[in-house]
Amino acid sequence: MKTHYRNCNICEALCGLEIKYEGDKIHSIKGDANDPFSKGHICPKALALQDTFEDSDRLMQPLKKTPEGHVAISWEEAYDLIIDKIKGIQQTHGHDAVATYLGNPNAHMFSNQLFLPFFLRSLRTKNRYSASSVDQLPHHVAAKYMFGHSLVLPVPDIDRTEFLLVIGGNPMVSNGSMMTAPNVAQRLKNIQKRGGKIVVVDPRKTETAKKADQHIFIRPGTDALLLLSLINTVFAEEKVNLNHLADNVLGLDTIKAAVQKYTPEYAAKITGIPAETIKMLAREMAASDKAICYSRMGASTQEFGGVCLWLTNVLNILTGNFDCEGGVMFPMPAFDPAMMSSTKGKPARPMQYSRVRKLPRFYGEFPVATLADEIETPGEGQIRALFTIAGNPVLSTPNGQRLEKAIESLDFHVSIDIYKNETNQYADVILPAATGLEIAQYDIAFNNLAVRNVVKYSPPLMETRGDIKQDWEILATLTERISGQSLSGQTPEKILSMGLSMGKYGAEGLTLEKLKEEFPHGMDLGPLAPCIKERIQTDESKIQLAHDFFLDDLTRLDDRYQVSETEFPFQLIGRRVLRQHNTWTHNSPRLSKGKNDCTLMIHPEDAKAIDLENGGTVQIKSRVGAIQVAAEVTTDMMPGVVCLPQGFGSRKQSGMTVAAERGGVSINDLTDEMRLDTLTGNAALNGVGVSLQTVDA
Ligand code: SF4
Repeated sequence: MKTHYRNCNICEALCGLEIKYEGDKIHSIKGDANDPFSKGHICPKALALQDTFEDSDRLMQPLKKTPEGHVAISWEEAYDLIIDKIKGIQQTHGHDAVATYLGNPNAHMFSNQLFLPFFLRSLRTKNRYSASSVDQLPHHVAAKYMFGHSLVLPVPDIDRTEFLLVIGGNPMVSNGSMMTAPNVAQRLKNIQKRGGKIVVVDPRKTETAKKADQHIFIRPGTDALLLLSLINTVFAEEKVNLNHLADNVLGLDTIKAAVQKYTPEYAAKITGIPAETIKMLAREMAASDKAICYSRMGASTQEFGGVCLWLTNVLNILTGNFDCEGGVMFPMPAFDPAMMSSTKGKPARPMQYSRVRKLPRFYGEFPVATLADEIETPGEGQIRALFTIAGNPVLSTPNGQRLEKAIESLDFHVSIDIYKNETNQYADVILPAATGLEIAQYDIAFNNLAVRNVVKYSPPLMETRGDIKQDWEILATLTERISGQSLSGQTPEKILSMGLSMGKYGAEGLTLEKLKEEFPHGMDLGPLAPCIKERIQTDESKIQLAHDFFLDDLTRLDDRYQVSETEFPFQLIGRRVLRQHNTWTHNSPRLSKGKNDCTLMIHPEDAKAIDLENGGTVQIKSRVGAIQVAAEVTTDMMPGVVCLPQGFGSRKQSGMTVAAERGGVSINDLTDEMRLDTLTGNAALNGVGVSLQTVDA
């Protein structure tokens, strides 16, 4: 029996694992008590690593679509077919006729992050899409305009804070997001143990809200009004305290003028939160020199996600809780993606807009909510071929049914994945990829979001089975054969090693070899520390509090709240469930058993109004579709708001048999690709107008 140490790479929490194994048999997966960051904590989802490794539904060979279904082919045949088709399509229709979609797991695989840029450049297409625009894109856009780089992201210092205001986040279930914090439940408890306070603002009394000191219901999609009125109060009550940032911010007077009309009394009418409660929150934020406002999915995936994330940063700055202990700070990662892709001093590129709906391009990508438009709409630049890499956008992006039809109509579709799923069931070629225990592990993305500076590297534990290849090897081969660029000799480890040597700790002697040999449990590089001068990348090296980009969007905000949607009187929001992660862990037998999580949560008064009983079936209808699901009647919901989980909806025709057996419905058969934060292009998955009807038993 041997022991292997690595981080779990399912969610953002970076829990250290201790894995006992013999040959290719895994005996146990436990928390690694010696991991300096997670200290032995894991959640039930870590078991999915073993289940995924052993899963007989995993793709083992490249597949080619035939009239009789998918059949196994060799890698050479697969590569030949892909190169022939992709080059042919690009020669006839131009480079933009080929698009890419990257799913969330790419962020959890450092080798993909290092080799995807080569591959994407080889295609020379503007048409890049990813799961970022159904998730955290507003965080990046706020960082870009305020701090000069989309990866310079402030992170809550929750281990030292005394007041935590959570808006639209549920870390007890997400395990922390845009805030890497293993055992976040204990970290939250510790805030209360040291006399601090947690307040959660959410249209649902979430698992986090139940543990918090105070929960406040808010109408979905109105968080920007709450934030504006909090900042209004800070100015009105003369509680602005810039702390050590006094000489580091621009636009203080402009922001003061911009928020003047958003009084708590005005916001109360729209948010549903009493004006006095708003004032109290602002006073509590300002009174503590260790306070945090942390806004997440509910604030990000709505019509004003960009404004929400901008204002969250502004509130933290104005209350003296930015770049200081117990407030929000910038991590200092060993491999520093913001430093390595610094654009400081370089001329800003002109904004690009998508062909059909003229939506903005951020982060090198167009919003995935317009992918179907770009496939369906004829003309120069129409997408005719697609690469989906570790993604299932039919289940994870808005109006999945429309996107499914669009993807089915493509001339050519290549998928790199571990499973056959609802998206790649139509793919012309599917390439089987390694994952979890079969890949080397380092966290580029999440060390950059961690509440302590940490670093760890682990080699692959298991040999890949069947004819599976590492994603980066597939990407390298495709790159070389599409562009002729030779990547021979390049490996993820070589690039990682170079990046580590260029970082802050590299100068102090940290190397990949040292990590491998001396720190199998990982290395603690210390608590977050003030570092604004080192991190900020704006031209003036100052924080932009009041960029016109955001200020101009306040007009859209004002107009929006004049409109009322009556055809669809209820507002639908999403939720994450503890034992599943997005769309790909549903095939784990151990995670999939137990009670049915795929229910519509609804307030008793709303259920009564439509004669709906707990467990009864309800039809939910939106502009784009209708689905039926069991109801869960609960006072956890704000009246007028209903809630479905995300990630469900696996179907029989996909290759994930356990997930399909469990079924469930896809929330994205109701979410609307036309509802967007038009500022950032992020999908507005929360606050979707729906109607409800009880289905007779
Ligand atoms: S919390 Fe996240 S990282 Fe930790 S074990 Fe669970 S899924 Fe893995």
